[in-house]
Amino acid sequence: YPLTPIDWKRRAIKYYPSKVAVIDEEKTFTYAQFGERTDRLSQALLKAGINEGEHVAVMLPNTHYMLECFYGICQMGAVMVPLNYRISSQDMEYIINHSDAKLLIVDAAFTSSIQEIRANLNVEEIVVVAVPGYECKVQGIDYEDFIQHVDSVSFSPINLDENQLLTINYTSGTTSKPKGVMQTHRSNYMNAADFMFHLGVRHQDVYLHTLPMFHVNGWGGVWAITAVGGVHVCLRKVEPKVILDLFEQQQITLLCGAPIVINMLVNEPKVKEIAIQVKPRMAIAGSPPASALIQQAQDLLGLDIVHVYGMTETSPFILYNEWKPLFDQASVEKQAVLKARQGIEMVFNGETKVVSQDGKEVAWNGEELGEIVTRGNVVMKGYYKDREQTQAAFRDGWFHTGDLAVIHPDGYIEIRDRAKDIIISGGENISSTEIEGILYKHPAVLEAAVIAVPDDKWGEVPLAIIVLKENYRVTEEDVITYCRDNMAHFKAPKKVEFVNELPKTATGKLQKFRLRKMYWNSEK
Ligand code: ATP
Ligand code: MG
Repeated sequence: YPLTPIDWKRRAIKYYPSKVAVIDEEKTFTYAQFGERTDRLSQALLKAGINEGEHVAVMLPNTHYMLECFYGICQMGAVMVPLNYRISSQDMEYIINHSDAKLLIVDAAFTSSIQEIRANLNVEEIVVVAVPGYECKVQGIDYEDFIQHVDSVSFSPINLDENQLLTINYTSGTTSKPKGVMQTHRSNYMNAADFMFHLGVRHQDVYLHTLPMFHVNGWGGVWAITAVGGVHVCLRKVEPKVILDLFEQQQITLLCGAPIVINMLVNEPKVKEIAIQVKPRMAIAGSPPASALIQQAQDLLGLDIVHVYGMTETSPFILYNEWKPLFDQASVEKQAVLKARQGIEMVFNGETKVVSQDGKEVAWNGEELGEIVTRGNVVMKGYYKDREQTQAAFRDGWFHTGDLAVIHPDGYIEIRDRAKDIIISGGENISSTEIEGILYKHPAVLEAAVIAVPDDKWGEVPLAIIVLKENYRVTEEDVITYCRDNMAHFKAPKKVEFVNELPKTATGKLQKFRLRKMYWNSEK
């Protein structure tokens, strides 16, 4: 019996045909309607010559069309390649061609970028989702026409092998050129099952898609919510005011987001007057959450936060924090680190450990720094057409994450930094994220990034790059003094820069390699 998340959709349609499946602004679809649209899409793709195992690229925001693609493409055994629409057209061209996609489904809003590179693209056909207010700039078939002109409105399930590819998902490109991660039906099934278990997902859940569905972090919701017959609430643009309005109007119970989403929400003026009946549970992942943010999310919105860790290569989550209400400062601080997964929590996914360079597990003393490595059901098959990177990522069957952590005596894993971001100053390892966590507690700081810059005496020293909140004035010296008062002196930044904006990926991660280029001209 193959494990595939596609089965869950079939069951949701069978058991909850008239229950709301998707809410997308003014449009609402029941599970029966949603199911029919996905079946029509599969039929249309077959008619367009897409066969099992072939690749279909998709460039859509978090709309019902995007959800239809996940199920419509994958249930016929074709492989979905979700694309980030916020990258440059050169990168789009690279990814679309590298992925060997035969057909592209694109939102009208992005067609001017596609038109720029159309002549170089190897895709045979383009299907365009019309959007009011956006002119279509590329020649293609209209999505609604595409799915209307089919021979049958239903699609009979085919035999899927659980180890066949479901998606090729390109990494965020936080540290380098995006790599095409190959995930299977089984790995996504396992990941979603884990997500349901850890976040207690139920059919009463109303899930807000704040994370881009083209990113692997956005999928937990895509598969798991359908699995239980919950409600998907789509959202074209992740804007704090819109999210808070949806909290009120749709009674959202569950969402995921990078820490930056919380930062946006707590700094949105409406947060002071919001009246929500249901306090949503929220999984945060993607970059290290500062405890000050967790506290604010709790105080201002009553969000029930659980801290999660993972990456595209692990489809995505491999560590979930223990879910405990945030009673006091100690539990807030503990949500900022992760509980090592033991026993039952490891059943679906496999194993995760922290090892030193010689491959031995580090001591549980909160000091010895090692790399997080993992193996098991959710780990990718490899990088698409990139044997070299794949071989470099796996050693003795363990996937090496490139993230550094310590384990505390009570089993809590504390992710310190990416190996590439750690600052080595006078022989000491300084975690850039630890300093950022302290900077976020400063009332004037809106956003902060800390990177290493070269120093004659210490080798490297921390540089803090800060975006201030409106109407706040703070000097370099103030920041340095504040840091020295709140952390070991050798860790405190030696230099501070104030900027209006920090470079980020589409999921809101700081692109420190860009900052390093700007302030150090380093390729590290
Ligand atoms: P690229 O691999 O292309 O440079 P990326 O690593 O940012 O991009 P993703 O797979 O989106 O691509 O992100 C995974 C990474 O995000 C992890 O390896 C880790 O560095 C970071 N991350 C994710 N969750 C957390 C967390 N809870 N705490 C700290 N860091 C996290
Ligand atoms: Mg990565």
